[in-house]
Amino acid sequence: MAFRFTNVEFVRSAANRSGFLRDGRPQFAFAGRSNVGKSSVINRLAGRKNLAYVGASPGKTTQINYFLVDQSAYLVDLPGYGYAKVSKAEKERWGRLMENYFQDEGGLITVGVLIVDIRHKPTANDLIMHDWFRQTGCPEIVVANKLDKLKKSQVEPALALIRETLELTEEDLLVPFSAEKGQGKEELINLLNKACQ
Ligand code: GDP
Repeated sequence: MAFRFTNVEFVRSAANRSGFLRDGRPQFAFAGRSNVGKSSVINRLAGRKNLAYVGASPGKTTQINYFLVDQSAYLVDLPGYGYAKVSKAEKERWGRLMENYFQDEGGLITVGVLIVDIRHKPTANDLIMHDWFRQTGCPEIVVANKLDKLKKSQVEPALALIRETLELTEEDLLVPFSAEKGQGKEELINLLNKACQ
């Protein structure tokens, strides 16, 4: 079936392995550093304003949020990383949760969606997340968000820097996106569908 993201509903949050969902539906795992616009991208895909919480507080960084897409797939909102004000204990909780998720769910992630900021070179943490997705063997789509913040002439060099830093080949998927304006939405939905075929 095709996922058009016409009906996206919050299902549950998981703070540890016992909360992970494993019912065989495809899972689209979304990752990105805090403030990159992950919530905004999810809201844009779902066509909703406040589905995923925009500007989540540091206390919200250690939960995985599951959303059901068109009754047939899960959008998995992995906790953001790289938030400067997070305590050491919370960083450790984040690390354990991710470790469990990637070890345990390796076979379950259908597509990894790594959201980066189109204006910046991907960070060390982005690279770690990128490696985790690669290690699971799932297809990955890199979303370069905040496209609207660049002038047209800046877009190609910015995409080239992202490709170079993440060592993407020409076949690897990189989608320029604006959660603010909606650019890239159809392409991302089409790529998520293709990855499930
Ligand atoms: P999260 O922490 O990754 O979930 O990021 P949020 O979705 O909370 O977004 C962080 C900030 O970036 C907010 O002020 C958003 O309005 C802004 N933002 C997100 N996406 C875009 C975008 O595509 N363009 C612009 N101009 N701002 C964006």
